[in-house]
Amino acid sequence: MHVIVCIKQVPDTANVKINPETNTLMRDGVESIVNPFDEYALELALLMKDSHGAKVSAITMGPPQADVILREALARGADEGILLTDRAFAGADTLATSYTISQAIKKLDSHPDLILFGKQAIDGDTAQVGPGVAEYLGMTLLCNVKSLEINNNRFRAETSHEDGTDLLEGDLPCVMTVLKEAPAPRFASLSGYIRARKASITKWVAADTGAEPSRLGLNGSPTKVVKIFSPPVRGCDMKCEWKKDKDKALQSIINVIKKKGVWK
Ligand SMILES: Cc1cc2nc3c(=O)[nH]c(=O)nc-3n(C[C@H](O)[C@H](O)[C@H](O)COP(=O)(O)OP(=O)(O)OC[C@H]3O[C@@H](n4cnc5c(N)ncnc54)[C@H](O)[C@@H]3O)c2cc1C
Repeated sequence: MHVIVCIKQVPDTANVKINPETNTLMRDGVESIVNPFDEYALELALLMKDSHGAKVSAITMGPPQADVILREALARGADEGILLTDRAFAGADTLATSYTISQAIKKLDSHPDLILFGKQAIDGDTAQVGPGVAEYLGMTLLCNVKSLEINNNRFRAETSHEDGTDLLEGDLPCVMTVLKEAPAPRFASLSGYIRARKASITKWVAADTGAEPSRLGLNGSPTKVVKIFSPPVRGCDMKCEWKKDKDKALQSIINVIKKKGVWK
C-alpha cells in the first residue's frame, strides 16, 4: 500500500498580511510551519503505515527551505520526502499548483492507493488543491474526512458537512482532504529527528515532473488577483451596557432585533 501525503509550508499566523501594492502575501519575518490541517493528513497516513505497513511519501511544492517540513514528516515516520522546487513554479494559483502536484504524483507512482491533503491551507485558504489534484488524476474524491479505516482495499470514512456526518464506503484508490477532527498528530521522537536530519530529500525541478512549462507558475495561472484586503472592522449601531438591570438591557436588545425585522 502506498500513501502519498501533500503538505504545505505556511506562515505561522492566521493573520496573513497582504502587500497592498503587489497584492501578494507578506511572508518576511514570519516563522514557517507545516500547515496545521496537513499534520492531520500526515497522521492518517502514518496510521496506515502502523496498521497496514503502508509506504508513506510526503510531497511539498515550495522554495528550497520548504525541505524543513519534509524532514518533520520524516521524523514522524514518513518514508520519503519529495520537494518540488523551481523558479518556474513561483506565482502558481490553485490550478497551476494542482497541475504541478498531480504531475509529480504521476511520476512518483502511477497507481498510489491513497492521496491525502489537509482540508485547506491557512494562508491561501481556498481548499481547492486536493479537489484539483483528484480531478487531474481522475480519482475518487472525499472531502472533510474525520476518520478512516481501510480493509481489503476498501475505505470506510466519516466526512463532515454543515448538516452532519456521512459514513462513506468505497474502493481504493482515492483522494481525501482531512479535517482537524481526525486523530491528533503524533510528536516525532528524538531518534526520528536524528534520522530525518541525515535523510536525503528528493528534489525535483519543473523538467523532472514532465509538466508542460506553459501550465506552471505564473504563466499557467489564470487567476488574476485584482485586490486583496482585510475587511474593515464593522462598527456597531448600538451599545448596550449591562450594569445593574440585566432584564432592561435584554429588553432593549430584543427591541432592536424586532425593529430590524430579524425577529417578530
Ligand atoms: C487570491 C490569492 C492570492 C494569492 N497570493 C499569493 C501570493 O501572493 N504569494 C503566494 O506565494 N501565494 C499566493 N497565493 C497562494 C497560492 O495560489 C496558493 O498557495 C496555492 O495555489 C495553494 O492554494 P491554497 O494555499 O489555497 O491551498 P489549499 O487548496 O487551501 O490547500 C489544500 C491542501 O492542498 C495541499 N497543498 C496546497 N498547496 C500545496 C503545496 N504548495 N505543496 C503541497 N501541498 C499543497 C495541502 O495538503 C493543503 O492542506 C494566493 C492565492 C489566492 C487565492
